Amino acid sequence: MKHLNASPPHIAPEHLALGTCPTCGRKSYLTRREARRAARAIHPHTALRAYKCGDHWHNGHTSAWRKRGEQQ
Ligand SMILES: [Zn+2]
Repeated sequence: MKHLNASPPHIAPEHLALGTCPTCGRKSYLTRREARRAARAIHPHTALRAYKCGDHWHNGHTSAWRKRGEQQ
């Protein structure tokens, strides 16, 4: 199971992450859509929210991104 740089639409949700964010250490996603897709697949019963960090997107709990003061 190699990790690809590109993210083709058919890729498994758990492999959508581009890598780890150098700033906050979270998994980075190319788009909000991919972040949400991965969140639904990996944490189906958790209320995760996609938010932007630099050029990429992360998933986090609502309280987490509110605390950081980040807007979408
Ligand atoms: Zn980040």
